[in-house]
Amino acid sequence: MKKVSLGAAMVLAKCPRCREGQIFPTSIISYRKLSDVHNHCPTCNAVLTPEPDFYYGAMYISYAFSVALVVNVLIVLNYLFDDPDVWVYVTTVLIGNLLLVPIMLRYSKVLYLNLVGKLKYDPDWKKLKA
Ligand SMILES: [Zn+2]
Repeated sequence: MKKVSLGAAMVLAKCPRCREGQIFPTSIISYRKLSDVHNHCPTCNAVLTPEPDFYYGAMYISYAFSVALVVNVLIVLNYLFDDPDVWVYVTTVLIGNLLLVPIMLRYSKVLYLNLVGKLKYDPDWKKLKA
């Protein structure tokens, strides 16, 4: 049984318990049902939505991602383009936000599930299931 690291599991949006099953039922490039999460892991059947509205807390992480994006865009534009007009900042932040919404939305949920979800990695989950 190959062990999957926490980082790899989070990047690939895998279940925190088995690190094999997908957290999201659809691809990140599909805008349909982008924020849907499996109620149970399709591989190990761990509960991925412990309670209704569990992922509301992920909104704070998503907000932090957006703030980090704004700060980074401001710093990069200021240094690389020698303090351009305000509309350049605003346009770049808006376009960056639009492009990164799927990533920020999904990884905020992945982070939230790993931080608050109370699911511990269990490489031997198959033994317990039997
Ligand atoms: Zn699982």
